[in-house]
Amino acid sequence: MWFRRDLRLADNPALVAAVEAARADGSEVVGLYVLDDALWRSGGANRVAYLVESLAALDAACDGRLVVRRGDPRSVVPAVVRAAGASAVHVAASHEPYGRRRDAAVERALADDGVPLVRTGSPYAVAPGRLLTGSGAPFQVFTPFRGAWLTHGWRAPAPRPREVPWAALPSDEVPAAPPTTARLPRAGEEAARRRWHAFVRDGLAGYGERRDRPDLAGTSAMSVHLRWGEVHPRTLLADLAAAEAGGVPGDAVATYRSELAWREFHADVLHHRPDARTEPLRTVVPDDAWATGPAADAAFDAWAAGRTGYPLVDAGMRQLLGVGWMHNRVRMVTASFLVKDLHVPWQRGAAHFMAHLVDGDVSQNQLNWQWVAGSGHDAAPFFRVFNPVTQGARFDPDGDYVRRWVPELRDVEGARVHQPWRLDPPPAGYPAPIVDHAHERRVALADFERARR
Ligand code: FAD
Repeated sequence: MWFRRDLRLADNPALVAAVEAARADGSEVVGLYVLDDALWRSGGANRVAYLVESLAALDAACDGRLVVRRGDPRSVVPAVVRAAGASAVHVAASHEPYGRRRDAAVERALADDGVPLVRTGSPYAVAPGRLLTGSGAPFQVFTPFRGAWLTHGWRAPAPRPREVPWAALPSDEVPAAPPTTARLPRAGEEAARRRWHAFVRDGLAGYGERRDRPDLAGTSAMSVHLRWGEVHPRTLLADLAAAEAGGVPGDAVATYRSELAWREFHADVLHHRPDARTEPLRTVVPDDAWATGPAADAAFDAWAAGRTGYPLVDAGMRQLLGVGWMHNRVRMVTASFLVKDLHVPWQRGAAHFMAHLVDGDVSQNQLNWQWVAGSGHDAAPFFRVFNPVTQGARFDPDGDYVRRWVPELRDVEGARVHQPWRLDPPPAGYPAPIVDHAHERRVALADFERARR
């Protein structure tokens, strides 16, 4: 059983398949995780640190028998197979570009020894690529995708194997996690389960009203657990159905289910268009519209450090640095600010997010950036430019979120915190706005109009 983005024992169909195969011929199961050099290098300190903790939790759940090896999976997996005399390698299918290439290469290497790579399930309720429109094309619009996804449905969660005959094999030492100053959430299947149950109990009924408010803890915080597969979305969907049957309002449940559908939509888009990782799916502004040179670099650095002078943007960017996570509403506002106020291409912002997000996920991150930038399938129209002041007044009405993350503004009361340049004197140590939003909005719209013409 080669674990990758499914660091759990419950509702893990690939593990069930491995255990059944082992039972059938009286053999054992090697639980393997490969610390892939390529991902270790590119993973970002927060994600790697989280992974190290999640692996420790998985190892404990595997009776201390998780086999961790370092190196390139193309050589490590066949080597472990030979050492164990394994007859098959069980995995959940990968759908993102790197994972697909890696698995195809491992499959070819295993074939030399006559060992199959058996794919069972995926990190999604409905595997990316499975749903097509009536004319057999990939979906480009979210609402019909969600309709087809709901109609298609999903299996019930797979039972957690009661006894797994784990094989004992030596492990490499897990290297120390890279240093990070971010305060990361607790990792592992048990932490995911507890967090989810607490949300269903206390947060689900109010999710529709509270989900857009960064000042309230109104969302589930499940993205990191879904990212690492410490829980499967099918388990969440089954619990949502049970909660609705138990009296939780149907619209709250439907809203949450719809967010999970966005996750599946983005994975589906990337499955069909692996180039969307780096390339805009549509051109929405001319190439010469993008800022370049030292001024653009300075603007990017101010954005990344949370020093743009726009409090909601700065609070979000500092939340990202502080805890490796940012509220969804603020992700939209900060991304829009970079692309439409600072005219920096979305790819640069997406790379910064990926360097820090503990839930950083190629399909979700890149496609959400494309959504904000207006270049994705069914994206926000480019002419929708988020206004950081009105977004702050609407979604952080008392300014609590800004004050939590921007200490220079801690003494400014109420919603006035969203426009510190109006205060006399202006708060010490906090920058003046680096651009004039109203002006930059006009520039962005003019660029958009040029491309349209
Ligand atoms: P909840 O509101 O509790 O939502 C429940 C689940 O629904 C989430 O855990 C997530 O799996 C899914 N979901 C919610 N919103 C979205 C969305 N917009 N797109 C796709 N799925 C969604 N999410 C990631 O998981 N990884 C990323 O790398 C990522 N990068 C993003 C970058 C940008 C620019 C933007 C605008 C959004 C990004 N998101 C990403 C989506 C979203 O912001 C996070 O999933 C959400 O904030 C996670 O918090 P939560 O689990 O408390 O969400």
